[in-house]
Amino acid sequence: MYYIDPHIHMVSRTTDDYATLSRMGCVAMSEPAFWAGYDRGSVDGFRDYFVQLTEVEPARAAEYGIRHFCWLCINAKEAENVQLSRDVLKLIPEFLDCPNVLGIGEIGLNKNTRNEAIVFQEHVELAIEHHQPVLIHTPHLEDKHQGTLMILDMLADHAQLPSERVLVDHVEEHTVKRVLDAGYWAGMTLYPVTKCTPSRAVDIIEMVGAERLCVNSAGDWGPSKPTAVPDLIMEMRRRGHKEKLIRKIVFDNPRAFFQQNKKFDLMDPAER
Ligand SMILES: [Zn+2]
Repeated sequence: MYYIDPHIHMVSRTTDDYATLSRMGCVAMSEPAFWAGYDRGSVDGFRDYFVQLTEVEPARAAEYGIRHFCWLCINAKEAENVQLSRDVLKLIPEFLDCPNVLGIGEIGLNKNTRNEAIVFQEHVELAIEHHQPVLIHTPHLEDKHQGTLMILDMLADHAQLPSERVLVDHVEEHTVKRVLDAGYWAGMTLYPVTKCTPSRAVDIIEMVGAERLCVNSAGDWGPSKPTAVPDLIMEMRRRGHKEKLIRKIVFDNPRAFFQQNKKFDLMDPAER
């Protein structure tokens, strides 16, 4: 089955991973800007990273027939440095017209600090000013529930940002309904062992349905599995779910969310 991975950090993956994903049916992916595994020393480090996201990775992906899109921001971990964050915010508009940039992300919270919240809101204001969709990272483990509620509160203060143009990622059993009930899209990030496994994700789909719900692999510099979306497809088939429902989760939903930005012009491979 062909699919889209809506959240994968290819800068930290090998070329072999591109080949494997292509063989498994990945036709498009989106890469949110995130922590690179180390703190960058200056705004120039971000400029180089944005060039990597807008020029280098799309070319690498194209070698394997995969469309590569991205999102720009300074992530919550490095947002603790407010001055650096503001320098990066000033840099972002230069890149917003690049053909593969879909919006602002992944912004969010890491340890739910005051500085993170300030920088989160300044990103939301930037997105509103430039009419960009937003992709949001919610904190992991014990900080997730409180951090998700803080994020939903801050978004509620920015009514000019339509809820259907926001995807809140890394949802789990205890946060998914809050996100969907507020009108946002939700993303589940699949990890091989810890956090949300493919089987937990299928439980969640069975619990809340498939509307505005996507799945992704995160595939980053830490322990993660870039082929986690095909693992979810396998688990849904094992449980007897219909192909149409599986396709909605792994292709139709991310495509519908991304298509709100006209630059996402991916054809349905079945209609080509
Ligand atoms: Zn991420």
